[in-house]
Amino acid sequence: MDCIFCKIASQQIPARVAFENDRIIAFHDLFPQAPTHILVIPKTHYSTLNDVPASESALLGEMVRTAILIARELDFADNGYRVVMNCNQDGGQSVDHIHLHLLAGRQLTWPPG
Ligand code: AMP
Repeated sequence: MDCIFCKIASQQIPARVAFENDRIIAFHDLFPQAPTHILVIPKTHYSTLNDVPASESALLGEMVRTAILIARELDFADNGYRVVMNCNQDGGQSVDHIHLHLLAGRQLTWPPG
């Protein structure tokens, strides 16, 4: 499959990895929108949130837990951070492999636009 995030997960293309286990890999975004901008992805390919079966709900939870873990490890949990998942065109999704954005390190505005 020609998926850039699958290739990062299988180490076919490089990334600055922040966390990894059997199911999840987290790496720094190539075009950061905040001082810290990390993408948390499952190693299993799901194109959009709509494609994740209910039986994989724990995987979605693990993605969020991973973001919390990284926030604590990189010491911005108390200052604060944002987690975002974009879905399809109106949601602003540009890479068709689900990913959770973890943004931190500056005052983030709301609504995002
Ligand atoms: P989205 O627009 O929600 O689909 O987010 C995709 C994100 O992937 C964007 O923030 C991109 O900057 C990021 N991105 C694309 N290619 C790479 C890559 N090779 N390594 C790291 N981040 C990437």
